[in-house]
Amino acid sequence: MTPFSRMRIAVVGLGRAGLPAARRLREWGADVTCWDDGEAARAEAAALGLVVADPALGFDFDALLLSPGIPHLLPRVHPAAAAARAAGAPILADVEFLFRAVRATGSRARFVGITGTNGKSTTTALLAHLLARAGIPVEVGGNLGPAALDMRLLGDDGVYVLEMSSYMLERIAELRFNVAAMLNLSPDHLDRHGDMAGYLGAKARIFAAQGAGDVAVLGQDDAATAGLGASLLARRVPISGAVPQPAGVWAEGAVLRDAAGLIADLATCANLPGMHNAQNAAAAVAMALALGLERGALAEGLQTYPGLVHRQELVGRMGGVRFINDSKATNADSTACALASYDRVLWIAGGTGKAGGITPLAPHFPRIAEAFLIGRDGPEFAETLAAHGVRHRICGTLAQAVPAAAQAARAGAADVVLLSPAAASWDQFTGFDARGDAFRALVRALPGMEF
Ligand code: ADP
Repeated sequence: MTPFSRMRIAVVGLGRAGLPAARRLREWGADVTCWDDGEAARAEAAALGLVVADPALGFDFDALLLSPGIPHLLPRVHPAAAAARAAGAPILADVEFLFRAVRATGSRARFVGITGTNGKSTTTALLAHLLARAGIPVEVGGNLGPAALDMRLLGDDGVYVLEMSSYMLERIAELRFNVAAMLNLSPDHLDRHGDMAGYLGAKARIFAAQGAGDVAVLGQDDAATAGLGASLLARRVPISGAVPQPAGVWAEGAVLRDAAGLIADLATCANLPGMHNAQNAAAAVAMALALGLERGALAEGLQTYPGLVHRQELVGRMGGVRFINDSKATNADSTACALASYDRVLWIAGGTGKAGGITPLAPHFPRIAEAFLIGRDGPEFAETLAAHGVRHRICGTLAQAVPAAAQAARAGAADVVLLSPAAASWDQFTGFDARGDAFRALVRALPGMEF
């Protein structure tokens, strides 16, 4: 199959998604040229026999596939993106090429896109789990990984469940989601999108190619997401983690339901704790129903959902003390969910904070027995905690913070040690996953651990 026969594509950014994309596009007949600002990545591509050249030096391509991590506008335009724009060539994401390739085979496999500020990965993994339990061929990934162009080509009965970041959504064109969901929206990534309007605009692109016959699942728990409804062509299905939605799916306490009655008791779903997960479960169920799954089988699927690493992941126990890895919580909103899940915690936080720092977490401060602060913005977090009379210490690194928190736990200060940083990790780690892995390793190296 050669859906991109002789199409000239520049692939810039040869990371987790870029390199598989370059190889797959070449396999599919495209004339691929690769580039990465890092020499090691260029060498790796060259070793695979890929053509390596800088497209910014003369853009003679039909499209630019730009890694989602590389900006094409703010805070600074990447030279390859500037060159593509000057040449009038589209800047596309790998998912766009996946969609075109699938349709080129004649397959009517359905595409599901999931976005929002928080809960994307959980909802994506949960929906894929529900589909797989129902025996449907499913490919799941996107922002969550694996990369889109590492996926299999599915036939008519298949479903692609794609986690879509705002960066990816800015770079889709024809990709039409049969079912698309936007969970929630709160300030994030404003350095890339300029302001909230820019961020909302990027997110809302998930619905842009939809038409009649498609389904748009919309979170109703924040005004920005709920307000999107009016402009959509697709059938709208409202969801909420808290408020009744007779036209959709909602949770009342732990009871997940729709107008026809009970769907599942979330108290029996071990890996979906908290109200935030009620929102995620409501969205996954609304999408599952839209895709034709039988409602009677959904409760079992929710109960057997295995959870994802780095999201309130239990990594070890020491007597009655639990160590929880919530490294994925890179902003205050997601940390609020974690703090709300425990009565009293020894809290490890810090890194590269977001605008507003941890001030929005003040309602949860009474749950903090002591905070152990790391990373660039540890001192700033300390100031906020001091202003609220919360016990804390600046540890600097995770390697210092973990034993200090464990010692406090042994002394009986609290029975949960929670890493939920409310900050990005870039100052000390290569990503939230490396930070979570480091935490897990440090915890497991403590004396007297069970895991
Ligand atoms: P994303 O992929 O959007 O970053 P994840 O599913 O990976 O979201 O969850 C990341 C963190 O965000 C979780 O550890 C949890 O603390 C928090 N979270 C999950 N779902 C929600 C939600 N619906 N609303 C707010 N916060 C959430």
